[in-house]
Order: sequence, then C-alpha cells, then structure tokens
Amino acid sequence: MAEAGKGIETFGFDNEEIRGGIYEKFKGKKGQIDRCAIVYTDPKAMFAGTKVHFKERFFLCKKGKCCEVCGPAKWRVGSVIVKYGTDKQGNPKKPLAYELYPWIFSEQTYIKLKGVNSEFPLATHDIKISCTNEEYQHLDIVPCSESIWTHESLRDQVLTSAKPIWEYIKKGIASDLSVEEINDLLGMSQAASADPTSKLDLDSVLDKMA
Ligand SMILES: [Zn+2]
Repeated sequence: MAEAGKGIETFGFDNEEIRGGIYEKFKGKKGQIDRCAIVYTDPKAMFAGTKVHFKERFFLCKKGKCCEVCGPAKWRVGSVIVKYGTDKQGNPKKPLAYELYPWIFSEQTYIKLKGVNSEFPLATHDIKISCTNEEYQHLDIVPCSESIWTHESLRDQVLTSAKPIWEYIKKGIASDLSVEEINDLLGMSQAASADPTSKLDLDSVLDKMA
C-alpha cells in the first residue's frame, strides 16, 4: 500500500542499514589509565590508514589543491581496540569485562605504538594507555607483560565482535570528498586563482617613495 516516493524506501523491520548511530570511538581520558589491546587477525594488517587533511573534518588527500592550501597530508590510522574493565590504575577487574572500540589516531600515536612494539610485540602484549591531553589525544603507552584477549577462551568471541568495527574504521577514517567538494570546503569554489603577476611588488613601491 505505501508507495515509495523519489529516494524514499519502504520497509518493515528488516532494514539492516539502520543501526542507531555509529560506534563510540576510543578516547583516552585524563587521569585514567586504560588497559587495552589492538585486536587483529593478521599482525601485518593491524591498522588501516590513509593520508588526510583537516578542515572542519578529516578528508582524503587528493594530491592537488588540498596540499597547496592545507600543507602536506598526514597519516590517519585506525584499528580495533579492546578495552578491559579496570580500576583507575588499569588493573583488570574480576569478573573480566571488555568493550571494543574503533580507535582512530594520528601519526604521533602510531610512532609511539611502533616504539613499544619494537620491544614488546603488540600482537602478544596488551598496553596501558594514559592521556596527558584529552583534546589533542596526547597519549602515553606502556606495554603489559601479556595479552588477555588472545587467550583461547576469549579470542574467537572478540574477533567476531571486531569485524563490523573494522569495516566501520575503513570508512570512518576520513571523508572521501570529490575535488569539487574539497574546493568548496577550502573556499575555492570559483577557483579564482590569484594572478601572481598582479602581486604588489613592495620593493618597487618603496623605490617609488624614496
Ligand atoms: Zn592533499
């Protein structure tokens, strides 16, 4: 009976696309130590990432005007993270509880993780994350002596829950804007590129004044 209009769909309770919003992203909180781990199926593919710019939001670098206006693009990296239920010092509470989050972070955090990984491979070590600046997500990362989620009793369950979050991360790292949309965002829609020859030559002005 209900006839769909243009761009409108009709459905019952079988619409899989309506999921009640996006996942809450992992963020370090000041004064709190979180015990976490990076969830992975392949240690060589723990992360997803791409080069982005930021203006009002993160958007994929198209290697053009975006770089001229915003400067060099920077990596933005994502992974699925498991956060255990702990006390404020990051010690796991019993019974064990955990939640999975998408974690999307900057080059600096990746470099820190890489540093820890070189001594304590993050495939087999949890990490404790503390936050020195919430707004900019400046994080301190120290390794734990072992990994909790990789224990046989947990591993499959965690990996199953991680799957949709991983898919979300791959899309959620940055907006894939068209060149036109980027120009709009950067306020260059008319592309009225200033003619460099019309630039006021200050030296010649001063010469004339002398
Ligand atoms: Zn760019």
